Amino acid sequence: MREFDVIVVGAGHAGIEASFACVRLGLSVLLFNINLDTIGQMSCNPSIGGLAKGHLVREIDALGGLMPWITDKTGIQFRILNTSKGPAVQGTRVQCDKAQYRLNMKHFLEKIPNLHLKQSLVVKLIVENNSVKGVIDEIGVEYYAKKVILTTGTFLHGLIHIGERKIPAGRAGEFASNELADNLKQLGFRIGRMKTGTPPRLKKSTIDFSQFEIQYGDENVIPFSWRTDLENFHPEQLPCFMGYTNERIHKFMRENIHLSPLYSGEIKGVSARYCPSLEDKVMKFPEKDRHQVVLEPEGKDTEEIYAKGLGNCFPYEYQEKIVHMVKGLEEAEILRPAYAIEYDYVHPTQLKPTLETKLIKGLYLAGQINGTSGYEEAAAQGLWAGINAACAILKREPFLPDRSQCYMAVLVDDLVTKGTREPYRMFTSRAEYRLILREDNADLRLSKIGFELGLISKEQMELVEFKAKKTKELIEKLKKAKISVSPKTNEYLIKKGTSPLKQSISAYNLLKRPEIRIEDIFNLTDEVKSINRIIDREAEIEIKYEGYIKRQLEQIKKFKNLESKKIPEDFDYDLVQGLSNEVREKLKKIKPTTLGQASRISGITPAAISILSIYLKKWHEYKKRK
Ligand code: FAD
Repeated sequence: MREFDVIVVGAGHAGIEASFACVRLGLSVLLFNINLDTIGQMSCNPSIGGLAKGHLVREIDALGGLMPWITDKTGIQFRILNTSKGPAVQGTRVQCDKAQYRLNMKHFLEKIPNLHLKQSLVVKLIVENNSVKGVIDEIGVEYYAKKVILTTGTFLHGLIHIGERKIPAGRAGEFASNELADNLKQLGFRIGRMKTGTPPRLKKSTIDFSQFEIQYGDENVIPFSWRTDLENFHPEQLPCFMGYTNERIHKFMRENIHLSPLYSGEIKGVSARYCPSLEDKVMKFPEKDRHQVVLEPEGKDTEEIYAKGLGNCFPYEYQEKIVHMVKGLEEAEILRPAYAIEYDYVHPTQLKPTLETKLIKGLYLAGQINGTSGYEEAAAQGLWAGINAACAILKREPFLPDRSQCYMAVLVDDLVTKGTREPYRMFTSRAEYRLILREDNADLRLSKIGFELGLISKEQMELVEFKAKKTKELIEKLKKAKISVSPKTNEYLIKKGTSPLKQSISAYNLLKRPEIRIEDIFNLTDEVKSINRIIDREAEIEIKYEGYIKRQLEQIKKFKNLESKKIPEDFDYDLVQGLSNEVREKLKKIKPTTLGQASRISGITPAAISILSIYLKKWHEYKKRK
């Protein structure tokens, strides 16, 4: 048991998906984690999904991943965010029972025959002739594999900060991974430093919940995974509680800001602008007299409450004071203090689009190690790296969908083409074709690829085909169904805030009105009937946004044109005349695989792309002659 097809180092969200993809493709995998009890641990908030992140989760499901299914199984609050906006920017967010998520994930992985779990700290890569051969763990045992995937999260030189106290750790209570971080540096990787943080966890029985506003989950949420039975999906949901900080807290924090390592200059790592800690919010937005605090249960069988919005890295006694100044938390007991953590990441422009490193053959990186933040971003990359490592072993074409096909591709392309200087998280605004890349159609977009790769079952594929067929049929029926003028119909329409009918209209055209939902059509005519929530919604979106979707499909055609122009790996940029030195150096560094990718490198002008395009043609002719 020392030789495997693939070794994955780190059983966090990235490592799990990487391993599962490889075993699904028939390979043997050794999956390391520092502690087997923390497989699939959520380091921070107990929730999966959200804006743009929900899209990633559904894409992971379409490619056979585990995160969506385990989320459905262990969810304790389900909500759709942004419902007042269009479908492209809505996202499903599920709060999970943190312990159950971890336990369910571990137990599922334990039962997979070709997946070998190992509790140990990997300290070194075995590299020969710039090619990875395996790893060595902390007790000196060597393990060999054809490919190695590193998914070590925040553990590389992880350093926790609480006031002046500095604790080397990958997460609170867990060892850091320092030797492996040193090894990566020795091997020649360019390493950066980032920072993230987490709020305190409070004891439920010490909170006065009457001072908070209750936030319930939504009914009838569509589960993340095809594996979850839609008709019988009625999970028991727990509420969250919303409150606010106040001026007193802000004044106290400002007066003592020198005690926060974030402001004393101790923390050098770059933090995410979009996810500031409380001290950051207080300092950067002095005009705001309150910030939101959300109390989220960490699970059904625990007293721990996650105090979202109270993240900071003040000394412990100050943290206590901050918590106690929140209305309703006067007596709250802190079970786990808030902290900030700095860690190493590898600049992702050192990766190929497959997430294989350019420096060492057979070595792949995925997840937070690449400068991203978030469980979903990590899982998506893990899946991507796992599939590509497996495809390379199986001598298949790499798995490289483009930006018009999925958010995953947007994520990977951004990382390897532009790199990142601050923790990268997914936003819908990062996707150019977001009307096409919706949560509701992730299965329609990707399942065929998943099925052809061997990642999803025939049963899953058939369900998706059924959805596609029935959606089409429903749209046709809506086109044929007529809504006639009648006092009852017009009364209904006026109540919905839309104009009454002067002549009969097809259900299809009536549904195009913004005030009308598909349920209204079912109320107004017996000619068309609901199929199920998923198919009804799909048909509704396709009808309402038909014009925009068509326009975006036209744009995609143009995009595909540049994307299809491949740049060979051995293409010599020094032969191209007319490029500035800066452009040439950038191209040599990133080594784009297509003209499309080259066009997205910052500073590469359309003129440079035209020149490159001419030289590419010449290169192909030259190669043919040779
Ligand atoms: P992780 O989930 O970190 O998993 C890495 C795994 O690798 C661990 O299980 C570890 O045991 C294992 N490992 C590491 N080194 C070795 C080794 N040498 N040998 C063997 N095993 C090893 N994200 C957000 O979106 N929002 C937030 O608010 C947020 N806050 C955070 C706060 C904190 C304190 C931390 C630590 C993280 C936070 N994150 C947040 C980030 C989120 O947790 C990560 O993005 C996500 O977990 C990354 O997944 P991953 O699989 O890359 O790594």
